[in-house]
This record gives sequence, C-alpha cells and structure tokens, in this order.
Amino acid sequence: MRFDIITVLPGLLESPFAHSILQRAQKKGLTEIVVHNLRDYATNKQKSVDDYPYGGGSGMVMSIEPFAACIEKLKSERDYDEVIFMSPDGELLNQSIANHLSSKENIIILCGHYKGIDQRIRDLFVTREISIGDYVLSGGELPAAVLVDSIVRLIPGVLSDETSALSDSFQGDLLDAPIYTRPADWKGHKVPEILLSGNPVKINEWRDDQALERTRNRRPDLLKD
Ligand code: SAH
Repeated sequence: MRFDIITVLPGLLESPFAHSILQRAQKKGLTEIVVHNLRDYATNKQKSVDDYPYGGGSGMVMSIEPFAACIEKLKSERDYDEVIFMSPDGELLNQSIANHLSSKENIIILCGHYKGIDQRIRDLFVTREISIGDYVLSGGELPAAVLVDSIVRLIPGVLSDETSALSDSFQGDLLDAPIYTRPADWKGHKVPEILLSGNPVKINEWRDDQALERTRNRRPDLLKD
C-alpha cells in the first residue's frame, strides 16, 4: 500500500514514519510512504504556495496551482483509490474508517496549513475529508501521521502477532481489557490471580468480562447496537 502525502512542511513528517512499526512496515515492503514538498510545485518566482483570501479576512489560503500540479503528476504515474484532505470539518476518524482504508492500494493525503486550502481543491480533487477530532491544529501533518499509523498497523503482516490488532479497542466494538506484566506483586499491588492460573479458557472469559465492563463504564455508546 502506498501513501503520497503533500505538505508545505515535509520536515514535520520525518520522525513519525522513521520508528517502530511504521518503519518496519516500510522496510518489509508492506507500505511505501512518500512525502512531497508542495513548494517544489510552486510556479511563481517567490515559490509561494498561499495567498490572501478573496473577500478579506485574516489568515492566508493555500493556492490551487501547486496542489493541482502535484496531484496531477501523481495521477499520471498510477491510479489512486482516494485523495484525502485532512480537515477539522471532515468525517471523524474511527477504527472502521481505518479498517476500510487499509484494503486500498494507493492514497494521496493533502495537508492544509494557515487558514486552509482553496475550496476548489476540495471540490475538484478531494474524494474524502477526514478529521482526527473536534479541535483545530496548525496543520494537517500530525493528522496525516495519525491517519497513516491507524491504517498501516492493520495491513496484514505489519504487526508481528496479527491477532493483537484484533483484540485492540474498537475492533469488535469493545474496549481492550486491562493488561499486566511482571512483577506479579509490586509493593503489595497484585496482578489478578486468574492471569497467573495458566488456564487459557478462564483467562479469555475474564478478559471478555473485563472488556465488556470497561466498555459499559467508559463508552456505553459503543454497546448501543
Ligand atoms: N480554518 C480551518 C482550520 C485550518 S487549520 C477551519 O476552521 O476549519 C489548518 C489545517 O490544519 C487544516 O486545513 C487541516 O489540514 C489541518 N487540521 C487542523 N485541525 C485538524 C483536525 N482536527 N483534523 C484534521 N486536520 C486538521
């Protein structure tokens, strides 16, 4: 699966993809993440990628030409399943969107900055708009990294123990059960006895019960259906 991320601040995206699971997924050839500097597609002398808003008001608006040039170049090289714009007014990212997108081949992600991007980019090129939460960040880079991480860990072969993604919160509408590791007794605070029993059936039952209870307490909305 390939991601092409278009940004005016490529440096912001260097670290998130250079560690841990995302780094390994790329090394194993399970995903390719290519970051494009929008400024390379600026056509004017000043290499500017933004301009004043029509109608006045505060904040700069990202121009259509550099985005159009970059998207059109990418589209001439391969077919894309989605062109996603990270935006606070998009659909709220959740596990089911991540699951759905993890079966795609090629995705372009646009990162906005300043006041946002010219509406015509959204109307003409974007197929999907995704928000990572009801708050406003300075740019689409961190949201893009969040989206890519949520998708890549679901690609078969990326996690060493594939079932671990299946038992995560939100897969199957339940939150994850509490987890423990050694020592079994830390200053009198003990691990639940059942986890030391060596009885996998009983342990699974306990985990299911705990997951259900946690979901009931914290996120009853997930149990509605
Ligand atoms: N004026 C815009 C916000 C611009 S913030 C508005 O009120 O909707 C600048 C850029 O940051 C946005 O274009 C978007 O790409 C990104 N961004 C900010 N918050 C985001 C969020 N919650 N989810 C996804 N992208 C976000």
